[in-house]
Amino acid sequence: MVNAQGKYVYDFHEGNAEMKALLGGKGANLAQMWQLGLPVPPGFIITTEACKKYWSDEQGLMDLIWPEVQEALARLEKVTQKTFGGGEMPLLVSVRSGAPVSMPGMMDTILNLGLNDDTVERLAVASGNRRFALDSYRRFIQMFSDVVLGIEIGEFEFLLNQTKRKRNLTHDHQIPADALEELIKNYKKVVKKSTGREFPSDPWEQLRKAVEAVFKSWNTQRAITYRRINKIPDTLGTAVSIVTMVFGNLGDDCGTGVCFTRNPSTGEKKLYGEFLINAQGEDVVAGIRTPEPIEELDSKMPKIAAELRAIANQLELYYKDMQDIEFTVERGKLYMLQTRNGKRTAKAAVRIAVSMLEEGLISSATAVTRVTPEQVEQLLHRQVDPDAVLDVLAKGLPASPGAAVGSVVFDADEAEQLGKDGKAVILVRPETTPDDIHGLFAAQGILTSHGGMTSHAAVVARGLGKPCVSGCEALEIDLAGNCFRVGGKIVRRGDIITVDGSHGRVMIGEIPLVQPSFDEDFRKLLAEADKHAVLQVWANGDTPEDARRARSFGAKGIGLCRTEHMFMAGERLPVMQEMIIAASREERMRALDKLRVMQTEDFLGILDAMEGYPVTIRLLDPPLHEFLPKENELRDRLRELTAAPSPENDAEAEKIQKTLAKVLSLKEVNPMLGFRGCRLGIIFPEIYEMQIRAIFDAACELVRQGKNVLPDVMLPLIGTQEEMRRLKQMVDDLAAEIMEKHKTSVHYLVGTMIEVPRAALIADKLAEYASFFSFGTNDLTQTTFGYSRDDAEGKFLAEYVRLHVLPENPFHVLDRTGVGRLMRIAVDDGRRVRSDIQIGICGEHGGNPESIAYCHELGLLYVSCSPFRIPVARLAAAHAALADSAPKK
Ligand code: ADP
Ligand code: MG
Ligand code: MG
Repeated sequence: MVNAQGKYVYDFHEGNAEMKALLGGKGANLAQMWQLGLPVPPGFIITTEACKKYWSDEQGLMDLIWPEVQEALARLEKVTQKTFGGGEMPLLVSVRSGAPVSMPGMMDTILNLGLNDDTVERLAVASGNRRFALDSYRRFIQMFSDVVLGIEIGEFEFLLNQTKRKRNLTHDHQIPADALEELIKNYKKVVKKSTGREFPSDPWEQLRKAVEAVFKSWNTQRAITYRRINKIPDTLGTAVSIVTMVFGNLGDDCGTGVCFTRNPSTGEKKLYGEFLINAQGEDVVAGIRTPEPIEELDSKMPKIAAELRAIANQLELYYKDMQDIEFTVERGKLYMLQTRNGKRTAKAAVRIAVSMLEEGLISSATAVTRVTPEQVEQLLHRQVDPDAVLDVLAKGLPASPGAAVGSVVFDADEAEQLGKDGKAVILVRPETTPDDIHGLFAAQGILTSHGGMTSHAAVVARGLGKPCVSGCEALEIDLAGNCFRVGGKIVRRGDIITVDGSHGRVMIGEIPLVQPSFDEDFRKLLAEADKHAVLQVWANGDTPEDARRARSFGAKGIGLCRTEHMFMAGERLPVMQEMIIAASREERMRALDKLRVMQTEDFLGILDAMEGYPVTIRLLDPPLHEFLPKENELRDRLRELTAAPSPENDAEAEKIQKTLAKVLSLKEVNPMLGFRGCRLGIIFPEIYEMQIRAIFDAACELVRQGKNVLPDVMLPLIGTQEEMRRLKQMVDDLAAEIMEKHKTSVHYLVGTMIEVPRAALIADKLAEYASFFSFGTNDLTQTTFGYSRDDAEGKFLAEYVRLHVLPENPFHVLDRTGVGRLMRIAVDDGRRVRSDIQIGICGEHGGNPESIAYCHELGLLYVSCSPFRIPVARLAAAHAALADSAPKK
């Protein structure tokens, strides 16, 4: 680290973009813009190191850094030719927080620091605009009181509104000087009343308190919550940037704005943003006045607009990424106040990555890492069915794409509560603030009546990938009455609405939603990802449709085809039941023959659909009682039948008696650990024989048609070598017999799932017979932890995670330490015995990015996941490979 001993303060010219850890993102980028020769107001940065030390010794640290701060401020006075706390032209500064990682809206900036009753008059004279000076002062008192002194800002807002109301004014900038003067007096009274002390008039005291407030803000509840949601370490600390004030509120040749170098919703390469004439700082993002689109700047301030576009290009060339820029215009001169890599929707992330790759700005590897698996997941977000007939209640801005249906709530706490109960809610607010973050997090969608595309609600929703409609001005929200009105219509708390954040529409009731399809950019990006990935991505799928979908999403095989689902379907279940309750072998064989014909059809379909790729078919796994009716249902029916005796009823009753007897005999105390999987295959070989015949009849038939089919037969729940040996023998014998019958040959493998710890521990023994292993990590997690998933997730698992007894739900994120260690043993031992053994994973973890990274580390051949997660898995596989090949720090 560049931190020289005891140096806590850096002038802009001493820093650059590489120094984010020390100077924070905002500070490092301000310094970098300075290095690039862009118009940045002069300033300096107090490092994150100071913030870290602040927490162990508050006053000691402040005393330690203060002389450095004073020196830096003296240098600032010199370059700006202004004086802090006096002089002809008083120096005012902003005090801004900035962590190494961008945390939008988390920590508040203080503007116009340095004003007091004396300097405000000097500013009035120097600017020739007394109204402006007083307006700046009144904003300063309000912000400082809120952020530093912790006074409720409601009272200030009340006084401000009262002033406007008394004079019939709608906007803050219309308030005349005399009214501002009175307002400032009243503001100070509020401060005196709430703190018992005068508002601090010494600029040095103001500065010291403000710097401390920034340090303190690192550990506010909302900052902690944001870090937790976004997995940002608590140890980073924030830097403090102290920047000479420039003024966007001096008149109509002034203004302030926010823009993105490309469209953050669609990724289109076009400057995109908003600005306000005669306004300061947060006015644009606060959503109080609705700002104008950046295109308007071209006609209102053409010179500034041209300069801004040129700077936007320059910044993109330097950062090689889309930038989010904040600027202010003071009396016809443009100042840059911030740049950072812009947040963007998933759609925009893909578009920008692909177009920057095509523009030659970034490499393929960079393009692939620019999109996160989570964003790919968002792209698979729901949209309003284009065929639905819509009665649009109101239109607002399309602030964050996707559509959501839920019941209306007006309060963040309530949204959180209902969200916890699993209810789908839409949070409806005039505007949102960082204090609503938990409600935004819990809601399915967000709707605000005020605010633009860069309002708090819009930015946060895009980050969370939630649909949001903002600036829906037609909404008259009545918070007290728990309802909103649009025209004559009234929507109350609890009513169902649909918000369409892709188009900015709001509809009453539940509108049908559809899954989106891949677009061209998405395909290109995934094709790039495949160039880097080492792991293949296969799919879990049981039907020809699943197989086709999997192929269209880019699957290179079926990693798990469960055969039991085939028996559950429609007309097959009665035949399956017939087989199970059969009294004699003949009866059972009759039923099995019927099932075999059906299974052959199934396998013809799925093998054909996956032609050229392996299809891993798992033989019957669940306990047989799962195919039979429930005991109490049978008893109820029996009671009905015996209550009304008749020849037909008696006959049915007799059949039910038989079924009931079977149900009782199959009843298990713990079915998960009971008579299932290969145990069935050993004790009732007829069932597996039937399935194996169906597989090879189908495969031989397709081979004879000239098709390249690759069936892999997977044995479930193997735990001993003898189970593996016997069943492998069974498959080989039957396969040989059937291939002989068809006079053809099929390339096939026999292998096993590794889903009980013992299988992993004797992997070397299993590998003598098994040509492949597939980690069934759902069951392997259950049996390794000794948790039954349904019981654990229903009862204690969430609480375990909350209490940090477990870092995560091990059914979502693979437990590397325990389950992962068993996998490691199985991989190593299996390969020692059979070097070319094919190994993959087919548990749900196969679609989870963190688990995929571990599979990459283990050197597996493939991960197999549900068809809809394939795009996520392909990207995650590429990321794992790229992280692996990146130079280690
Ligand atoms: P955030 O982290 O919320 O983006 P910033 O520190 O960027 O907070 O401050 C918010 C806004 O305040 C900026 O976008 C800018 O408009 C205004 N601002 C900050 N510093 C200055 C300054 N020195 N002069 C004028 N405006 C400023
Ligand atoms: Mg802010
Ligand atoms: Mg900012």
